[in-house]
Amino acid sequence: MTDIAANIARIREQIETACLRVRRDPQRVRLVAVSKVKPAKDVEAAFMAGQKLFGESYVQEFRDKEQQVREPVSWHFIGGLQSNKVKYLRGKVDMIHSVDRLSLAKEINHQWEKVERCANILIQVNIGDEESKSGCQIDELELLVRAIAELPNLKICGLMCLPPDLDDAEQVRPYFRELRQLAEKIAALKIPGVSMDELSMGMSGDFEVAVEEGATLVRIGTAIFGARVRANG
Ligand SMILES: *Cc1c(COP(=O)(O)O)cnc(C)c1O
Repeated sequence: MTDIAANIARIREQIETACLRVRRDPQRVRLVAVSKVKPAKDVEAAFMAGQKLFGESYVQEFRDKEQQVREPVSWHFIGGLQSNKVKYLRGKVDMIHSVDRLSLAKEINHQWEKVERCANILIQVNIGDEESKSGCQIDELELLVRAIAELPNLKICGLMCLPPDLDDAEQVRPYFRELRQLAEKIAALKIPGVSMDELSMGMSGDFEVAVEEGATLVRIGTAIFGARVRANG
């Protein structure tokens, strides 16, 4: 059996230690427990262990789980998103990490306008320039941010990436560093309404390196909940 509480405690400690190594304030790093493919009872077990923030990747699964979980958790949507499904997230998620095109941003803006609220979003960057990954191209980023910044019911809070899957976390470090540098570059443009406070990067295999490179949101599934059986995760 997976000891969710013990796993969360261990990961929190690892995050703190990584922060200390680079003199960062551990309070600036939030753990997103990625509960995709896992049942609502696992979310509840994590909640009992003090975990309030959860990440989901599939819209239909999120809709079901959001109904089942009774505790007042905060949900972030981290997966690939089709515009026609945005309406199911409206008002229910506190942040969307995976915005990589203007059409999607416009639909989020449209849906959140209906509930007279502002959606917090991150721009996903295809940092390794991989065909198989979503995310905007690095050289499109500035224009995309400028266009999305015009939408009144959206707030750009930072950047997100899914770097190449490499065996050694150290090999991923340059990608995390590059995302941070991109965020610094965008921040320096001082585009009204755009903040670059959040860097969503790091997963089970590489989150300590991501924290050392400036992550403020680490998205961790396997190391908390155990391996996912369904192959689409
Ligand atoms: C599944 C997923 C994660 C978590 O991955 P683990 O390796 O299980 O920690 C993080 N980010 C995204 C976008 C995911 O889809």
